[in-house]
Amino acid sequence: MIIALKQDAGRDEVRNFASALEKQGVKIHFSEGASQTVLGLVGDTTLIDEESLLAHHLVEKVIRVQEPYKRANRKFHPADTRIDVPGADGVVRHIGSGYLGIIAGPCSVESREQIVEVAGAVKAAGAGLLRGGAFKPRTSPYSFQGMGCDGLNLLLEAKKETGLPIVTELMAIHQLEVFDEVDIIQVGARNMQNFTLLKELGRCRKPILLKRGLASTITELLMAAEYLMAGGNDQIILCERGIRTFDSHTRNTLDLSAIPALKRQTHLPVIVDPSHATGIAWMVPAMSKAAIAAGADGIIVEVHNNPEAALCDGEQSITPEEFGGLMGILRKYAELEGKKI
Ligand code: PEP
Ligand code: MN
Repeated sequence: MIIALKQDAGRDEVRNFASALEKQGVKIHFSEGASQTVLGLVGDTTLIDEESLLAHHLVEKVIRVQEPYKRANRKFHPADTRIDVPGADGVVRHIGSGYLGIIAGPCSVESREQIVEVAGAVKAAGAGLLRGGAFKPRTSPYSFQGMGCDGLNLLLEAKKETGLPIVTELMAIHQLEVFDEVDIIQVGARNMQNFTLLKELGRCRKPILLKRGLASTITELLMAAEYLMAGGNDQIILCERGIRTFDSHTRNTLDLSAIPALKRQTHLPVIVDPSHATGIAWMVPAMSKAAIAAGADGIIVEVHNNPEAALCDGEQSITPEEFGGLMGILRKYAELEGKKI
């Protein structure tokens, strides 16, 4: 249930009104806009009487929210959420609400030379954040599983050298112990519905990059975000990374329509991963442009200094030079969309 308050509602009155509602067993989520405060009620609202709410002098409108996601719902929080990620270089990166987040780097951290070289190159080209997997979810147990803690340490070295904030995947909750200096925690497609993991990460106060499951609906993605938000973590970035369809021409099928669909339903930023969506490096620039044109708040793209020798996902990785060219084009797309990089 959503209660939109009258414009002249005073702060103290609003607090008293909200605590009276909380006594009826619901939790209140405040959204204070420039001209109006909106109260989002989470929990069992069936016993709350709409008529008497409407009779209250502070109340302008009461809306029952049909969707099962509440905190992630745009009705609860009409303004776009912006995620702010400070870098060690003193620059704060913004994602959402008019800012495009550009995350680039290799699929996996492979060596010091590789990660430091790619990090420097993507930073020079204009990326705001560095990606790199240390713990890798692989289909085969015999494939390269990532460098684990050693990889994470190399990623931290690249962070130190470039000042770029880092994004890396967490696969199990015990790994949180070594994620202190990670700036954004990635929950991969395969873990999107690992509810135990989501509950635990809901308690942490770092931004989470939540990737859409391979065969998950938009509502399921929003419900996964709701799990994180129900625990009090409201810094969630959603990522469309392609879904399974009948067509095997590309690794996955990039669901571009998920972008406007999500942006209508939620205030959370939505970014696109054109690398895993297509699995084909030459398609990455076209899909990156399409993502920004469709209203995405950024991209996460795989960049490798030697794609042919990559230990993971080389065929979908673009080179630093190609990334540089793409950035030039994306700056123009950002301008057309009225967004900043
Ligand atoms: C990744 O980003 O490295 C990754 C494994 O992505 P996804 O979870 O989308 O497959
Ligand atoms: Mn990959």
